[in-house]
Amino acid sequence: MNRSVSAPEAVFQGLAPDGGLFVPTQFPQLGFDLDQLPSKSYRELATHLLKQGLPGYTAETMDAVVRLGYAEGKFDDPLFAPVKSFGDRHFIELFHGPTLAFKDMALSLLPHLLVAAQKQLGISKEAVILTATSGDTGSAALTGFADLPNTRIVVFYPDQGISLVQKKQMVCQPGKNLFVCGVDGNFDQAQSLVKALFANKVLPTTLDQNNQSFSTANSMNIGRLIPQMVYYFHAYGQLIEKGKVSSGDPINIVVPSGNFGNILAAWYAKQAGLPVKTFLVASNKNHALPDFFNTGIYSADRPFHRTDSPSMDILISSNLERLLFHLSGNDAPLISTLMTELKQKKRYAVPDTLKARIQSEFYAGYCDDAACRDEIKRYHKKTNYVLDPHTAVASRVLSNYQQSTTDTTPALIAATASPFKFPATVFPALFGSPPQGTDFDLIRIIAQKTAVEVPSILQNLENAKPLHTDHCTPDTAFNYVQNTLSKGILS
Ligand SMILES: *Cc1c(COP(=O)(O)O)cnc(C)c1O
Repeated sequence: MNRSVSAPEAVFQGLAPDGGLFVPTQFPQLGFDLDQLPSKSYRELATHLLKQGLPGYTAETMDAVVRLGYAEGKFDDPLFAPVKSFGDRHFIELFHGPTLAFKDMALSLLPHLLVAAQKQLGISKEAVILTATSGDTGSAALTGFADLPNTRIVVFYPDQGISLVQKKQMVCQPGKNLFVCGVDGNFDQAQSLVKALFANKVLPTTLDQNNQSFSTANSMNIGRLIPQMVYYFHAYGQLIEKGKVSSGDPINIVVPSGNFGNILAAWYAKQAGLPVKTFLVASNKNHALPDFFNTGIYSADRPFHRTDSPSMDILISSNLERLLFHLSGNDAPLISTLMTELKQKKRYAVPDTLKARIQSEFYAGYCDDAACRDEIKRYHKKTNYVLDPHTAVASRVLSNYQQSTTDTTPALIAATASPFKFPATVFPALFGSPPQGTDFDLIRIIAQKTAVEVPSILQNLENAKPLHTDHCTPDTAFNYVQNTLSKGILS
């Protein structure tokens, strides 16, 4: 359905009432020469692009959002997202935020955008975020929302299939408006549980009585996508500064992809004036996306695999819907038909003209866990640089692409997580089977042997006290949420 709302409304609502996604009606434009990029700080660039990308917020509001979201000391690198170069391969490190993964880049801002939207729209209702996490989203969202007025967040994490580091990041995060609850089972079960809670008929009454409403912090919220455009421009500025490209030279962008938010933001950056030749979508053994880009047929009707790059273990990539909308020339009826087919038949096929348009800009590939570990080892041997498993998948897909084409365009790879977040994969990839010990023991040995410094956040985490000990089963989750919604938050 075509319906226009202001950016603050879109951020507050998260999803349109019909379940569709909000898209920009007009892409922001950089509005100055690319060769001026090196002179802009990350905050300046963010403020500039956000004002245009999320119109409807006042200029003062956006200044404050960026100041608070990207406050001094939140990121452990002065560039926020520094670029590390090896030959024609450039890694933009998106993991210098509080939870060491790229979701911090947007989830540091989104909560402030949400609170500003409440204020600007005169909404007194408390925004309630309810989410299940397989790791990275939960901790980044908890950190972003901690103690923000008029918000509360409930995160369910599965007992199985989440690393010790990821779990500690969540249960040790202070904040009076945070509710963190372990659930029996794996991520799929936690996700189904949250879906059932959203469909529950009693909770809306509870929300109403408490003057609350649900919002969303996942990448379906447009308030997460626009902030992600910023680092692609900032990276280009760094490449100019280092003499790796001249202003206007095209680059390729390689992104380890799951829900397709990060790479879509790169495509948005191109619409705003960034010179990009080809977008490379990288996936793991769950390769619904590459299959789609290669055939024009999207199929979620396939087995789910748990892999070493868990943040990409996704069968339905929600943000693809937005790309299809834009590339079809804003053909809302077509997209609505495709999304209905996806719901009913778990698959859809796009018309040939649309497929051709997509393939002219996108290349997609994937690799399995063995190739991913091999890439971590190979790249460390070659450069001394340590890749996390997600970034390694992207690096391997780029190598495959370069072998099968003659394309020598400089490549910018989104390095989406710190290797120290995944020691149980990185250790054996580098050194063979690990000795007995916890994730934290492995982290210490990796740091020692590779001479890469452990982020201070992780050093403090090992001995941090768990603050959240809630636990439930699928049967008791409803009562848990019901009670949690009604709890007073002392400020
Ligand atoms: C979320 C995540 C991804 C996938 O990003 P999308 O925007 O969902 O495509 C890749 N790597 C890491 C480390 C992540 O946390």
